[in-house]
Amino acid sequence: MEIKFSKAEDKIREVAKEFAEKEAAPIAEEIDKEAKYPVETFKKMVSCGFTGIGVPVEYGGSGGDDITKCIVVEEIAKKCAATAGILSIHGIFGQCILNFGTEEQKKEYLPKVTNGGMHGAFALTEPNAGSDAGAAKTRAIKQGEDYIINGTKCFITGGAHADYTIVFALTDPSKGLKGLSAIIVPKDAPGFSIGKTEDKMGIRASETSELIFDNCRVPQKNLVGKEGLGFKIAMIMLDGARIGVAAQALGIAEGALDESIKYMHERVQFGAPIANLQGLQWYIAEMATKNECAKWMVYRAASLKAQGLPHSKEAAMAKLNASENARFVTNLALQIHGGYGYMKDYPLERMSRDAKITEIYEGTSEIHKVVIARAVLG
Ligand SMILES: Cc1cc2nc3c(=O)[nH]c(=O)nc-3n(C[C@H](O)[C@H](O)[C@H](O)COP(=O)(O)OP(=O)(O)OC[C@H]3O[C@@H](n4cnc5c(N)ncnc54)[C@H](O)[C@@H]3O)c2cc1C
Repeated sequence: MEIKFSKAEDKIREVAKEFAEKEAAPIAEEIDKEAKYPVETFKKMVSCGFTGIGVPVEYGGSGGDDITKCIVVEEIAKKCAATAGILSIHGIFGQCILNFGTEEQKKEYLPKVTNGGMHGAFALTEPNAGSDAGAAKTRAIKQGEDYIINGTKCFITGGAHADYTIVFALTDPSKGLKGLSAIIVPKDAPGFSIGKTEDKMGIRASETSELIFDNCRVPQKNLVGKEGLGFKIAMIMLDGARIGVAAQALGIAEGALDESIKYMHERVQFGAPIANLQGLQWYIAEMATKNECAKWMVYRAASLKAQGLPHSKEAAMAKLNASENARFVTNLALQIHGGYGYMKDYPLERMSRDAKITEIYEGTSEIHKVVIARAVLG
């Protein structure tokens, strides 16, 4: 058995690799330093069809599946984890509409967020409801033809730039988790505003914002699926999104290995390239082996999802492993670079900071262990 990509998948990898080298790599340092959302790069990702992956052509998408998406995210993350993360999370909006939206919603929103250049976001987390998403307090009350939404969401990737956000709000608090619903909120909805944008440790360009709903009015036709299905929709979406984060983590680790190989051949100490030092060769061996392992797990989870097979445990395992690996590998890569690795002139410092987020968002490592343990113990 081997990971065998199709010719079409090899081709998309080439396209994504070229995009990463020509478009993502040159701006990675600047957008990290300035915490600047890469608006122009996003437009280029739209032109390349990356924002439409996983959405059928009839709705303006580029087709492809979770394997295709992972390939693109992995390649971009090798050069700029923030850009890869933006792409990965933007995709959740479209997948949510595709899987749970009405035909009318698919026709209205999918072309806009695939090839139309509009941004989508996914807002589940609240200040007091992170891992415990069921503790959400945001309310949506029916009034005439509309919902009136009140509450605050936090840490929303691309939230300040999103033209449309899927917001999870309680339509019936008496039912707890079963009272949560998914509602599309356009950025110009009355009563909707952007609060604080966070100053972050890593993936600084991805823009992480607070969203405020103060008697925010949206039509009831913006409900996705049925009332009360919100928690189920969120969990299904997160199962898939975790594979995207795992691919992002894999890309970061592979990028760190590439930088280390290059540096070891260039850097001379004791009269010879440091690639000759056995102590560092062992680091490289460990990094390459662990990356290979992460790759298998990422594409196994993606393949299961692409085939419509159960993938919750495998997605959690792939993300847990790939994110811990990204931290391990970037740390060794920084060590290989010595003092230069600690400086902002080299990308390892940024990669090490970027790697950390993969252990936190789309579910922390601890939550993934809960999911895996439940599945294993039965
Ligand atoms: C940069 C960034 C981008 C994000 N983007 C989005 C986004 O686009 N949309 C969105 O909705 N959310 C987003 N999030 C939120 C993210 O998913 C949450 O931060 C994450 O789920 C953890 O929630 P929390 O921060 O409240 O931590 P908490 O839930 O408070 O966790 C604190 C600690 O307790 C541990 N813990 C909690 N419960 C358990 C348990 N049952 N067993 C063992 N340990 C446990 C956690 O693992 C963690 O170590 C983003 C976060 C960040 C940092």
